Amino acid sequence: MAHPGHAAYERLRAAHLAAVRGALDDHVARLDWSAERIESHRTERLRALLGWARERSPFHAARMGGLDPATATVADLAALPPMLKGEAQQEWDAIVTVPGVDRAAAERVLATQEWFGYTPDALQVFSSGGSSGVRGVYVWGWEQFVTLACLAWRWQRRADPAGPERLAVLSAGGPPHASTPLFDVPASASASTVVIPAAAPFDEVLAAARVARPAALVGYASVIGRLARATLAGDLDIRPARVSTNSEPLTEEDREAIENAWGAPVHNLWGSTEIGVQAVGCGIGEGLHVCADEVILERVDAVGRPVGPDEPAVRTLATGLAGYAFPFLRYDLGDDVTPLPGPCPCGSAMPRIAAVAGRRDDDFRYGALVVPASAFRLVLGVDPRISEYQVHQTRAGAEVLVVGSPDPAAVRAALITELARFGFPGAVVDVRLVDRIPRNAASGKLARFLPL
Ligand SMILES: [Zn+2]
Repeated sequence: MAHPGHAAYERLRAAHLAAVRGALDDHVARLDWSAERIESHRTERLRALLGWARERSPFHAARMGGLDPATATVADLAALPPMLKGEAQQEWDAIVTVPGVDRAAAERVLATQEWFGYTPDALQVFSSGGSSGVRGVYVWGWEQFVTLACLAWRWQRRADPAGPERLAVLSAGGPPHASTPLFDVPASASASTVVIPAAAPFDEVLAAARVARPAALVGYASVIGRLARATLAGDLDIRPARVSTNSEPLTEEDREAIENAWGAPVHNLWGSTEIGVQAVGCGIGEGLHVCADEVILERVDAVGRPVGPDEPAVRTLATGLAGYAFPFLRYDLGDDVTPLPGPCPCGSAMPRIAAVAGRRDDDFRYGALVVPASAFRLVLGVDPRISEYQVHQTRAGAEVLVVGSPDPAAVRAALITELARFGFPGAVVDVRLVDRIPRNAASGKLARFLPL
C-alpha cells in the first residue's frame, strides 16, 4: 500500500473526488428539469460531441457523411451507422481523440500498472472481458469521470443530501476494471468507504461486511443479494439504509431479499465501461431513469432505424455525451431495453425503462430453439435455500452448480418441467451442490449463465 505510484494516484484521486462532489449539486438539480429542458440540453451536448468527433476522430469523421454537427438533432443520429463492439476495439487508433494516445500505449499502461493511475493526459485506462467475449480497452477523460460519477450518485444524493458516513463498496476491488473508481465515492471529505473485493471467498466478504457495519452498500447485485440472504439467515447483522446495485442484472430474488432483510431503497444501475452509466433507479418508482441529459438511447430495428416505444426493437444503441476521449456514437450495447410509460412517482421527467434483465448472450440456443435465461431463474432464483448458482449449457440441456442447501433432485425436476414449458421437453439436467462458484478473476463478476 505504501507504493509511491499508489500515493501519487491517491493525491490526484482526492482532487477528482472533490470535483465530483462539486458537480453533484448541478446533477441533482437536473433530475427535476422539465422534459423540454432535458431535450434542449442534450441537443447542445450532442452537437458538441459530434463536432468534436468529426474534427478529432478519423473513424467518426468518415462515417458522418453529410451530417452537420452544428444543426444536428437526436433524430439525425439515425444517419450514422451503428457502432459494434468488435469494430470499436479493432479501429481503436482511429477512434481515440487524445493526441499521442493509441491502443499500444493503453495496453502498456494496463500491462505495467500496479494500481489504478492517471496518464499524463489525466486519462484512466480500463479493461473488461465482457459477456460477448471481446476484450475491451477503454479510456475515460478527467471531466468524463466527473460526469459519470455524478450520474452514478445523483439519485442517492437527491434522496439523502448528506450521504452515508460509511459506505461499503462491493466491486472488482482493483485494476483494470472501472467499477471500483466509479463506485468508491465517499459522500463527503469526512465520510469513509471500505472496498470489499467481490471475487473474494464469500466468508471473507461476509467478515468484511460485519466489520464495516456500513450505513449504505454499493456494488455487484449478486453479492449484495447474497449479503441480504445472509442477514435473513441470521449470519450478518448490518442495517444499510440505502442500497445501490450495479454491474450485473438485479434479479427479482435479490431485490426481494434486499427488501426483506433491510427494507432499504434500492438504486439499481445499468452501465457499461463504454458509456459509463446509462440508467439508474430513483429508489421510489419502478424501473430505471435513463440519464437522458448525458446518454441518448435509440431502440432500433435490424438495419439501425429507430422504432417507436411500443414497437419491438432488435437492438439498443447508446451515445455517451460525456465521452470525448473515445467517442461512442450509436454503440450497440447488446442489451434490450423496454420503455416504461407514464410519470414516475418521484416527480422526475427523466424517462424510464424497465430493469435490464441481461444480455441477449445469456440466452441458450439449442438448434433453432432459444431458451431465455429467465427459464432457469424462475426455478433457481426463488428457492431460498439456494444462495448462488451457475448454469452451464450442455448439448442436451444444462449442468447447474448451486451453493446452499436445496434438494438437488427437486431442483432438477423443477428445471426439467420449466424447460418443457419453454418448448424443450426431455432436457437433460444435472444439478450439483458445490461449496463456491468461482467469480471472474479480474472483474469479480459472477457469470450465472455460460452458453455452449
Ligand atoms: Zn423515479
